[in-house]
Amino acid sequence: MNGQERGGPGEQDGTGPILVSACLAGIACRFDGSARPLEPLVRMVREGKAIPVCPEVLGGLPTPRAIAEIRPGKGRVFTSRGEDVTEAFTRGAQEVLRLARAARARLAVFKERSPSCGVHQVYDGTFQGRIVPGRGIATAALVAEGIKVVSDEEFTKGQGREGRGTPGPAGPEPSR
Ligand code: SF4
Repeated sequence: MNGQERGGPGEQDGTGPILVSACLAGIACRFDGSARPLEPLVRMVREGKAIPVCPEVLGGLPTPRAIAEIRPGKGRVFTSRGEDVTEAFTRGAQEVLRLARAARARLAVFKERSPSCGVHQVYDGTFQGRIVPGRGIATAALVAEGIKVVSDEEFTKGQGREGRGTPGPAGPEPSR
């Protein structure tokens, strides 16, 4: 047994692989065409323990794409140009859910503050860099299905506690 096979956040939860935000697995699918790779997650994908998913791409949006934020309370997603992209975000969330069911995934590691993947926080819909408590659209769909979702930051902290992690991004940063 090696270090990657022990239990803990972001590792296999008894049944099926975990889902990870594709940008955390090194796929350049963020709105600006960049990635945010976390080496332990990249490795898990390589080893067949994790499946990368990008809800926004699965919802039919291009990369790069217009930056978007959720308007909390309204449950709708708008680009900075005022275009309502809720339908694509919802479609992407449903595709992620379908994949989670097919793979029997019970755990996901998602990118904090994204309007799709945010776990505890999202931007407030004003494009002013203000952060509020909330969940991304895909995260909400997984949680409603009983699937546990942890953020990349929680995952990184868990890795650090076990003394075997690769430090991830610290503190708030653009995460859409
Ligand atoms: S945070 Fe989620 S929706 Fe945004 S690029 Fe990463 S995987 Fe795609």
